[in-house]
This record gives sequence, structure tokens and C-alpha cells, in this order.
Amino acid sequence: MKLRKLALCSSAAGILLVAWVASGQQPRRIDDAALRNAGKTGDEWLSYGLTPGETRYSPLNQINATNVSRLGLNWSYEIGPGGGNQEGTLLMSNGTLFGITNWSIVYAVDARTGKEKWRWDPEVNQSAVRPKLCCGIVNRGIAMYEGNIIAPSNDGRLVALNMETGKPVWETRVAYSQDSYTLTMAPRIAKGKVIIGVAGAEFPVRGFFEAHDAKTGAFAWRTYTVPGDPSKPPENEDMRRAAATWSTEGMKMGGGGTVWDGMAYDPDANLFYVGTGNAGPWSQDARKQGKEKENLYAASILAVNPDNGKLVWYFQMVPGDEWDFDSVQQLLLADVVIKGQPRKVIMQANKNGFYYVIDRVSGKFISGQPFAQVTWARGLNEETGKPIINPESYYGNQSIPIAPGPGGAHNWSPMSFNPATGLVYLPASPGGSFNYSSDPNFKYQEGRQNMGIAFGGFGRGGAAAAGDAANLAGAAPPPAPKPLPAPPAIGPTPPESNGRGGVLLAWDVVAQKERWRAQGGGGIGGGTVTTAGNLVFQVIPDGRLVAYTADKGDKVLEVQTGLRGGMGPPITYMLDGKQYVALAGGSGALPALGPPAGAGGGRGPAPAPAGGAPPPAAAGGAPAFPPPTTQVTPKLLVFVLDGKATLPGASPAQ
Ligand code: CA
Repeated sequence: MKLRKLALCSSAAGILLVAWVASGQQPRRIDDAALRNAGKTGDEWLSYGLTPGETRYSPLNQINATNVSRLGLNWSYEIGPGGGNQEGTLLMSNGTLFGITNWSIVYAVDARTGKEKWRWDPEVNQSAVRPKLCCGIVNRGIAMYEGNIIAPSNDGRLVALNMETGKPVWETRVAYSQDSYTLTMAPRIAKGKVIIGVAGAEFPVRGFFEAHDAKTGAFAWRTYTVPGDPSKPPENEDMRRAAATWSTEGMKMGGGGTVWDGMAYDPDANLFYVGTGNAGPWSQDARKQGKEKENLYAASILAVNPDNGKLVWYFQMVPGDEWDFDSVQQLLLADVVIKGQPRKVIMQANKNGFYYVIDRVSGKFISGQPFAQVTWARGLNEETGKPIINPESYYGNQSIPIAPGPGGAHNWSPMSFNPATGLVYLPASPGGSFNYSSDPNFKYQEGRQNMGIAFGGFGRGGAAAAGDAANLAGAAPPPAPKPLPAPPAIGPTPPESNGRGGVLLAWDVVAQKERWRAQGGGGIGGGTVTTAGNLVFQVIPDGRLVAYTADKGDKVLEVQTGLRGGMGPPITYMLDGKQYVALAGGSGALPALGPPAGAGGGRGPAPAPAGGAPPPAAAGGAPAFPPPTTQVTPKLLVFVLDGKATLPGASPAQ
């Protein structure tokens, strides 16, 4: 009877429902409850961080420390031409895998067969948008809600696509790349709204994030992260308070504070959390300000009410940021016991080298310790969490080496939290630094990157490598002067490879201590997922998929996938009684628009440290930025126990 009733439907959706019923399956509805509960079984991967608290912890244990060595490829799928790093986290629901390429092409693949179901190309005007992507052509992910995939297009559009057909359902505009805004982050869902922020704080932009109705695309609210045009009155009390912490010059030049990765949601607290990017231009001298100016709310965590976007609390990691210390890194919510008390916490491994644990209901600081070499600050105030900044870190026209550098001790590589071990698995670049100095000839340029610092030349992966040299303020940046001595360092000693190697840190979030570490990875590129099988999976930009025991860090799997130059974080899910691990990676050949896009991928440009040091964030001892000969056609790879398919390996660049 149900079938007959459905057969009367003339809509495409009705026909699809018939197909589902005929095949004996009901499509699982992805509503607020499904998203909230996704992490309880781990059967499907429905949102960027798997859970609203973005733990990337899966309770699955079919694949575990005793059998993971049998993991093999099940199938692979070519995801598109590439021309930039794949940074996207896949989603999986109803037997279909969904992903997004670096140029915002969305694809759906049958998870049983690897056969493409549909793909949708927003046809981004690549030559126009590319110069506005500061640090590589990337997209980090998509969202799903009530039958739709919601995808950002890196030119500023937000589009909902029917999950079954890939046909557009609605399209809206968040920002214009002409205004130097781009969309590189994964949208998130909270209370029926889709929330997304803009990238671009190296350009003269005013950061914001905004919400749309997830079913219709209708605009709901926008929250700015920094004050606006000083000739106009502030929009609200929060912006009035922020404006008092900026110079007029800084406000005129946009202020930065863009929102390009970290978000999390606590439905019980009715709080939505957002990390904000660096203050812009980078140097305080360019902003014509004194170091007492805090530059709210750049380099902060904001907790807002998801109903209206209103600020509930804020915690600023880096007052008066002038080191490109974006604080957009993953925001991870967990319930832990600290000093005998159960605490609801929000945590972040910040670009600035400190691991923060904060009460996520009140915003009160709990603890923070360096997980990497830090010279910009001597530590954090135990009560307030404010950094005790080394005075010499405020650079002038003389160059000074500061750790971490703009590449960050941690950047966008996702970490994961395993409640059984109490450890966060954090891809870090613990030994990076950069020689900062103000550009004495800085002149603001409309529509271009305005950092206000002197460079001795960019390394690959910096703005110049991304084809953006022409965007820099001043045609020929002055050479960096001879550096002053470095301020004293705190934090763990860099790894044996003299700071060039990235590491995987297993960080005890209560004790604020490292429990084990493994070589490989880094703050940019890759990422981890941890499981109830006592496992941590990590992807490393040199193409490896590695697994460790979660408790002790014993390596139990290493697969060279043959993909290079960009590895999206792994996910895991169940299908027909089997557990799978999937990832998308490979950078692919570049369109003929300029020199290779940087392997940096993160928002923070990673200029080469002056003084001839190698580029930061090398992966596992391998060169950080693979030479063009290793460009590999981007692929989606799916692994299973006893998988027998042949790894496609390096194939000729397209
Ligand atoms: Ca930045």
C-alpha cells in the first residue's frame, strides 16, 4: 500500500523513495537528532568532526590494534583534476560517500562499489579566484542535512545539493571573492541552521561568520569578529567594546579575524563556538597601534547563541596579535575530570604553541601548556590564561626569530580525542619559527595582501609560491635585516630533525603533558581519527596512512598510498557489517596559471624563514613540499580488512 501511494508521487523525490523502498532500505533521515547522535554508534560519518563536539572519535572496533595490519585497499575513485591539496573530510551516509575537491567540486560515490553517483561542479572562475586564496586552493569539507549536501564554493557561494541526485536545491551568497573573501572551511549545522565563516585575513577584510536556514538557504544572521568602518557607529555593544581595542588605521584596513576552520556546537549549553583568525595587517606598526591594544575579537574563541549569533563569551588567545596566530584550529569539546571535578571543556591546540583547556559553558580558563617550542610568550597567566608576552616579540624594523612561525605549531590538521585514553592525538610542527620584522615602507593596497612585514623572500608554500607575489604590498619586499637573538624558549624540545619534522603528539588533556610522540605529519596537512579499537589513524602529506595503538603509540600499520602533496583526514564507518577507513588525497596537476600552489594549505602563509632555513612543517623527514614530478591525480581511497585491490600509486600528472 505504501508503495502504491508513493508511486502516485510525480516528484523526483517520490520516485527515489520508491527506489529505496524497493531495495528494502529506508534512507536514514539526517536531522538534528541524527547529527547529535552520530558519534554514538560511529556507523556513519555525518559531519565534519563526526560529533557536534568534533572529537573525531569513533566507537567502532572491528578494525583494532590486533588486526589492523591486514588493512588493504577495497577500491579507489578519481575525484577530479586537482591543482591544489585535497584537504576535505569525507562524509558517509546511506551507503554513499560524499566529498569536495580543492576547487569545490562535490561528488557522491556508491560506498559498496566505488561507482560515481553524481558530481557537481560550481564552475568557479579559477583565474579570478585563485589570487584571492592566500595559501593554496582548498576546500575542507561539506555538511549534510535533511536530504541535502551543503557545500561551500571557494568563490563565496553556499549551495545545497540533493543527496541522491546532486541537483541544486538552493544557492546563496556568503561573500564575493572580488572583496577578497573566500570559503575554504566546512559548513556546520546547528539547530536547523548552516553556519560558515570566511577566509582571507591576509587581505584587507573584516572577518565574519553567518547562518542560513539549512533547508531553504534563507539568511538568518551574521556576526562580525572585528569592528568595521571607524567612520560609522558600531553595530552593537560587542562591536563598540571591540572598537575601543583597535586603532583607527587598523579598523580601516579590515582587521582580519577571519573564520576558516574551527567550529563546534554544544546543544545542551545552546552554544556554538567559533575560532577567529589573525589580526590584519600582521604587523602592529602597519596598524599604527601601541602594544596595549588587544584587537578584539581577533585570535579568539567566540561562544555565540546559535539562534541569533549573539556573543555569549569570548576568550582571546593572542591579544594584539602580530604573528599571524590565527586561532581557528579545531575546537574540541569533551567532558573530563579535572582535580576531581567533572568539567565540560572546549580545547584547542593553537597555532601559537599552547594547548588550551577552557570551561565551555562559562568561558573561564582552566589550563594551558606549550606543546611546541614557544618564544613569543613566557607562559600563560594561571588565572586568566592571558599570555605573558616576551616584550622583544613585538617586532620593529629589526628582524627577530619567533617560535612558532606563521605556519603554526598546529594548524588545520584535525586532531582527535579518545575518551578511553584521555589523550588527544595532535599533528604538530613543534620546532618552527620565523624571522619577523616590520616593513618600514609599508603602504596599504586595496584588494591585495597587506601583511606589513619585511620578507627575505618566500619559500615554496608561501604567498609567492601560490602565485600571489603580485598581490603583496610593494612590488619588491625589502630584504629581511639580520635577526636579533631569539627570545628564551619554553616547551618541549623540538624533535631530532632540528625542527624540520612534524610529529604526532599524544597529549594528556588533564595533566597537560605529552604521553607519547611519533615522527611524521605536522600542523599543516593530514589529520587523525581515533577509535575504540585502541587505534589512531594518521594521514601524512607524503602519502602515508599510518596507525598507532592509542594507548602506547606502537606503530601497527604503515601504507604508502602513492598519493602526494595533500592528504585529507581519514574517516571510518560501517557498511553491511564491515568497518571501513576512507580518505581523499593527492594534489594533481596544476592549471597553467602560475607556479605550483603551496603545500601549505592552511590560511597562514608559510614564508621561508629568513636566514636560509628550510621551509617549515616538513612531513616525517620528507620534504615539506613535494617536487612537481610527484604530483598525483587526486583519489578517494577506501580500505577494509583483507582488502585486495592494488594501490593506484603515482600516475602521470594530468
Ligand atoms: Ca592567517
